[in-house]
Amino acid sequence: MKKRVVILGISIMIALIVEIIGLYGILQINKKNTKNSANNENETKLIENDTESEKTGETESVEATEETETATEEETTTESHTEEIDPNKPMIALTFDDGPSSENTPRLLEALKEYGAHATFFVVGYNLDGNEDILRQAADQGCEIGNHTLSHSKLTDLDDNALDSEIGGMAEKIKSITGQEVVTIRPPYGAVDDRVMQHINSPIILWSIDTEDWKTRDVNSNIQSIQQNVFDGAIILMHDIHPESVDAAIQVLGWLKDQGYQMVTISELGYYRRGGLRTGIRYGSIEPN
Ligand SMILES: [Zn+2]
Repeated sequence: MKKRVVILGISIMIALIVEIIGLYGILQINKKNTKNSANNENETKLIENDTESEKTGETESVEATEETETATEEETTTESHTEEIDPNKPMIALTFDDGPSSENTPRLLEALKEYGAHATFFVVGYNLDGNEDILRQAADQGCEIGNHTLSHSKLTDLDDNALDSEIGGMAEKIKSITGQEVVTIRPPYGAVDDRVMQHINSPIILWSIDTEDWKTRDVNSNIQSIQQNVFDGAIILMHDIHPESVDAAIQVLGWLKDQGYQMVTISELGYYRRGGLRTGIRYGSIEPN
């Protein structure tokens, strides 16, 4: 009799355990399904600009248009927007690629500071060694450091592994120097395709005004390019590895300020105009709504 009771007790316990395991399993499946459907919603990745053409050499000349507004990607908001930026007034983003340059970047930073201006530096891995202080200085005075890859490779030519190391390796390298997360990326030559987009987990920054500074190497031509084409929300492309480009930038800062333009970083422009930049979107300009 006693033995039967014990066996019955054990049987009930086993039944309960099986029931609990079953319930847990159902819960897990439900959880997974919810997660999957959320992912599917996010797969409507939108591309702002499909007119990407093949480019070779240092011809960063792709024309970019404004970002698409209906993205469902998560937002990446800017970290530092401490200056008194008036969201209702015109603003532009000056961007400098391929540096930093020990010869040119420090005097550019000095001038930016003097005018209360911020800029975005899309730096490359091979120019970081020995220039760590310049990078930190830029970040300290409110400039943004963006990813321009480790070796300035054309990303569309790389295999998946190389892509990840060019992008991820560079983001880590920058963070190890500035201590800040890298929010934005500018692919060398503006070259991206669907596969490359899948490997980039950040907002992609193209440009609206190409000064062609690398080609003309002429101060006045750079200044004119900016003065003739600037508009509210423009993203201006220059290279701080060239002394003429930096001279031009320094000389045009006063004019831009007189015209009422606030010179902000890419993330600030995104924050004040759209509440933040979005992953999976290519930005050529961010005009007022
Ligand atoms: Zn470049």
